[in-house]
Amino acid sequence: MEHISLYRKYRPKTFEEVIGQDHITKTLQNQIMNNHIGHAYLFTGTRGTGKTSIAKIFAKAVNCLSPVHGSPCGKCENCLRLEKENDINIIEIDAASNNKVDDVREIRDKVKFLPVGAKYKVYIIDEVHMLTDSAFNALLKTLEEPPEHIIFILATTEAHKLPQTILSRCVRFDFHLVSVETLMKHLAKIFDKEKITYDEESLKLIAVAGEGSVRDTLSIADSIASYCQGKITKEETLNILGTTDYELILSFFKELKEKEVGNILALIDKIEKEGKNLAVFAKDLSKHARNLLIVKTCKDADSILNLPEDVMAKFKEQAEIFDEKELIRYMQVFSSAENELRYTLSVRLLLETTCLTAMLNLEVKKN
Ligand SMILES: [Zn+2]
Repeated sequence: MEHISLYRKYRPKTFEEVIGQDHITKTLQNQIMNNHIGHAYLFTGTRGTGKTSIAKIFAKAVNCLSPVHGSPCGKCENCLRLEKENDINIIEIDAASNNKVDDVREIRDKVKFLPVGAKYKVYIIDEVHMLTDSAFNALLKTLEEPPEHIIFILATTEAHKLPQTILSRCVRFDFHLVSVETLMKHLAKIFDKEKITYDEESLKLIAVAGEGSVRDTLSIADSIASYCQGKITKEETLNILGTTDYELILSFFKELKEKEVGNILALIDKIEKEGKNLAVFAKDLSKHARNLLIVKTCKDADSILNLPEDVMAKFKEQAEIFDEKELIRYMQVFSSAENELRYTLSVRLLLETTCLTAMLNLEVKKN
């Protein structure tokens, strides 16, 4: 049987099914219900936050014969027709590979043709910031006087690269990173449907690793679920993600602060015996120092780090006992050690030396 990725299988078909972008879906639904549809939209935000998914739902919704709360009904003849790949009324263009002025001129020449068996033709131009200057100028001409039956949806991860003239023609929507809690709920629902077993800790680890993107979260979940053959455990998840768990990192930093040489050596021994990659561990240490520094110095640390509440509480507690200089020093030594650790033959010795010299604030002699 062909394996369908979780991301593809659970791709939203209505606005209600979209995860974590309520500020956008509600507005678009209202526009459709009130028949206030624009001709040019700009969808901007990090990769994997649902720009193309929402663009496709919108393209169906504007053509649906009986939309339900602004979402496509999925049953009428227009919905069924547009469901098929390559329907001529929804035109997806990847600007990364079609960025020349001729590509845009081709769009311009075609927009005058009426949609076939639909109300609107919808052009979805992905990675629109990749267009050349002359291509932008050509696009601008079309955006200035769009025919009634045309809608443009420009999607980009880098809106700041678009000319002001284009920006001012578009209704802009900023896609947000999805919170860990929302991703966890979404994952749990999918795992339940797929009869995959899991524990809360694994859910959290996967959601954190997804870094705010539904697509990345589901593709990580996919590989872990198939590796664990449907029974996900915290240990397997940690192994696959190659990261170290928070508790371990927190206790490691506690020992650093208390300058417990023996405990540090014992922890490194434990980590190595568990088969963890020590270079990845060094990266986790440097990341942790950075996280503590953010917690200590930034007002909106919660939204920058996007971590589960209980983890955040422990970070805040630990950030108290370090001063800024210490944290910056740890960031520096662990991030430079990470690189060296990838190439050295005596990995463990190097990590031990790095930890102890940084902890005791000793001068490091370089050859
Ligand atoms: Zn419909």
